[in-house]
Amino acid sequence: MRELVVLGTASQVPTRHRNHNGYLLRWDDEVILFDPGEGTQRQMLLAGLPVTPLKRICITHFHGDHSLGLPGILQRISLDRVPHPVTVHYPAGGQAFFDRLRHATSYWDNAEIVPGPVGAGFAVETSAGRLTALPLRHSIETYGYRLVEPDARRMLPELLARHGISGPAVGELQRTGRFGDVTLEQVSTVRTGQRFAFVMDTGLCDSVYALAEGVDMLVIESTFLAEDAAMAEQVGHLTAGQAAAVARASGVRKLVLTHFSQRYQDAERFLDEARKEFDGPIVIAEDLLRVPLPARRPAP
Ligand SMILES: [Zn+2]
Ligand SMILES: [Zn+2]
Repeated sequence: MRELVVLGTASQVPTRHRNHNGYLLRWDDEVILFDPGEGTQRQMLLAGLPVTPLKRICITHFHGDHSLGLPGILQRISLDRVPHPVTVHYPAGGQAFFDRLRHATSYWDNAEIVPGPVGAGFAVETSAGRLTALPLRHSIETYGYRLVEPDARRMLPELLARHGISGPAVGELQRTGRFGDVTLEQVSTVRTGQRFAFVMDTGLCDSVYALAEGVDMLVIESTFLAEDAAMAEQVGHLTAGQAAAVARASGVRKLVLTHFSQRYQDAERFLDEARKEFDGPIVIAEDLLRVPLPARRPAP
């Protein structure tokens, strides 16, 4: 099961229809919560999601709309006795903010929370693939995240049968790349890895393109419309058109726009502006929406 569950979509302040940010990526058994804003614990409840499967929390930056929900989530992880460690990634320069949110109130703290500060060259291997981060252009230290599943090989049963390979021989072939005269390439095909990027709170910069390059799903902030492009530039945010142009230039397969300013009443306008730049699937995020990852790209 690979999908994005949108928990909140509002920039700066929640509105009657949009909670503060919050995005849960379910990638088989790697379940990652991105940017838990205020109220994320309750949004997870409304989405029918327990905290127990959470393996990792990724925070782009310590503005409240991306992190005020962290204390509630961490305390819930303790209360529900999540039996495995949960790693939290956050900008290393925001250590003081993390320390405060980690111990915001008194509670029976019995969870294993592993701090994973992010700095230059950050990369970790997860069960979903390699997770990296790049610095963005915002008013405080901010990182975007990128998850890349390595390509693998898919065994083809009819070719295995034709070469008389079955049982333990299949395992040996997968481990060593060969069984007798038969090579792995003869009986398998490439299973292309999937890629995901999460880009919040930034003006346009090289990192935005590097994070988005060739991803199956790009979740990206789209705070403003073109009429406010000058302000967006000034405060370190993107317009819908800019975000969509990044998706086009980077070969993104599915574009998810979010982090909307409350100044606009009609969300259709974000779609209209994005559509002029990107002709692939565009999702204008709404709270509690579930967005499946597109099907795996065919083998080259
Ligand atoms: Zn924000
Ligand atoms: Zn911000």
